[in-house]
Amino acid sequence: MKKIMIAVLTISMSILLGGCQMIQEDNTRPKYIFLMIGDGMGTSHIDVTESYISYKAGKLGGEQLTMTQFPYYGSCTTFCENQTITCSAAAGTAIACGQKTYYSRLGCDKDYNRLESMAYYLKEDGYKIGILSSVPINHATPAAFYSSIKSRSDGYGIIQQIPQSGFEFIGGSGIQDLYGKDGKMLKADKYLEERGYQVCFGEEEFNATADTCKNIVLCQYKNRDGEPSTYTSVDDDDPTDMSLATMLKLAIKHLGEDEPFFIMCEGGEIDWYGHSNMTMPMIQSVIKFDEAIAVAYEFYKQHPDETLIVVTADHETGGISIGQGESWSNTFIDWTEVEENWEKGKDRYFKDAKANREFNEASHIGWTTSYHTGGAVPVYSIGKGAEKFAGRIDNTEIKGKIIGK
Ligand SMILES: [Zn+2]
Repeated sequence: MKKIMIAVLTISMSILLGGCQMIQEDNTRPKYIFLMIGDGMGTSHIDVTESYISYKAGKLGGEQLTMTQFPYYGSCTTFCENQTITCSAAAGTAIACGQKTYYSRLGCDKDYNRLESMAYYLKEDGYKIGILSSVPINHATPAAFYSSIKSRSDGYGIIQQIPQSGFEFIGGSGIQDLYGKDGKMLKADKYLEERGYQVCFGEEEFNATADTCKNIVLCQYKNRDGEPSTYTSVDDDDPTDMSLATMLKLAIKHLGEDEPFFIMCEGGEIDWYGHSNMTMPMIQSVIKFDEAIAVAYEFYKQHPDETLIVVTADHETGGISIGQGESWSNTFIDWTEVEENWEKGKDRYFKDAKANREFNEASHIGWTTSYHTGGAVPVYSIGKGAEKFAGRIDNTEIKGKIIGK
């Protein structure tokens, strides 16, 4: 009897081991990679936004953004090398280069040694590269993927590194002001065009010229005669300004599907409205970022076995919460009323921080700081290798999980 048991056990073990050998993990890298970064987007920014869209759908909860419908969920720690609470430069560097650095450093370590971003690594492996943001192209998060510089505030030094990158597509709302050592403003578009990049303003210009150029810088703003190339954010009231979702569609078109690509796409103004504790614009910026995620998801559905989408944030901004105050009467948020109050008073709230604080109190939305917080941020993922991003991770692990090292 004992012998039979041992024989059965041996046979079972060999079937099991044989099975294990047969189910080999597919460790090859996805052909198409989307890394979506919501700047300053903590879990609560998403909770607040989903509370709003649920209410608009006649419910108290349950409506979901595209990102929260992805099958894998994780959380990511964000501290930098010398601070509990990080900034976009150090956090962008940790994500892009897989290494912590000091506050405010971009693409370099605490001793200013250059670190290699995953975009350079993938380019060497034959990937085409797209770096996109809804804020200026030389802001910290996009810059962490193509530049290595002592300080994020050196916008001119950052711009100079775009031609050196050779990345095929760089897009943003515009280009942050550039001043040379003599204090004069530099024409960034001219600088880039002299070094092999076609700079396009708006969709029309892109469609007219992009086919003939390998390397593109695209600004969401339509060019306006006489104005400098230094726009910093998109005007929501101007329909000629393109959305982040449209820019992502154009980036995919430009990079093409024949060769592999890596796209980093940032929703940048979530952080800006977090700093100013502007509840309704923050919600709209999360929705706009999610619309870009939906573009990536549509692409994934066409190529489910070859595509990876990872959505995360560099840090949380503002310490937002659904609910504030000490009374039970604060446990219900009437978003229709909140929206109406916002529309009536928004001009004043933008100018007067105290009035905006009172608006938030009346809306039962809490904000704890006008700066960043140190909490972990969410990670949503889908597609090839998405399971690697589940559970608790640190921002320095993202590069390795994407490039497969
Ligand atoms: Zn910030």
